Amino acid sequence: MTAKQKRTGLVEVYNKLLDQFGHKHWWPADTPFEVVAGAILTQQTKWENVEKAIKNLKERGCMEAESLSRVELEEIEEMVRCTGFYRQKAKRLKDISTFFFKNPDILRKPVDELRDVLLSLNGVGEETADSIVLYAADKPRFVIDAYTRRICRCMGIKGGYPELQALFENSIPQDVPVYKEFHALIVEYGKQFCGKKRCTECIIVKNGKM
Ligand code: SF4
Repeated sequence: MTAKQKRTGLVEVYNKLLDQFGHKHWWPADTPFEVVAGAILTQQTKWENVEKAIKNLKERGCMEAESLSRVELEEIEEMVRCTGFYRQKAKRLKDISTFFFKNPDILRKPVDELRDVLLSLNGVGEETADSIVLYAADKPRFVIDAYTRRICRCMGIKGGYPELQALFENSIPQDVPVYKEFHALIVEYGKQFCGKKRCTECIIVKNGKM
């Protein structure tokens, strides 16, 4: 597949998914810091579990960097237990909330600088960093998750995180709302089709081929 075919293929996928699901208006959060916390909590779990943990944090008045940074680790563990790996995630939340409290203007940094800073934090990998850059800071970095990799594989597109990210960013307009929408649509499709092995109904590839 040529680079042009890959780019055209991704634009077609975007249009098909938008037709299928409509606008997702992701990420559902009241504040940028809620996106940050959600990006940590969503690692290796379903979003429904994240919602429960966010509700717990909000009910205890801990959904701000300052308040969360001051809560005892054991208390955070209790509030996020429903998301699995809760000890690890509680520590990550404590660390990142302390960092955001001490660096309140961090999200205003230029996109590459912000991404590098985020990647230096405990428990923040590329997908988490880019989720924060895109959905909390409103800056254009495309998020590559497991469903994105799976769909790309089915389309015959190979590559690691940076290669896939560059391909998406070169295929669609550099536009924050479009990046947000496309990633949300991929996640929705992944949950409803790929995750449920509905490959015979796939609207992206037929019999494993474009
Ligand atoms: S539904 Fe199946 S064939 Fe279609 S993209 Fe997902 S995993 Fe691939």
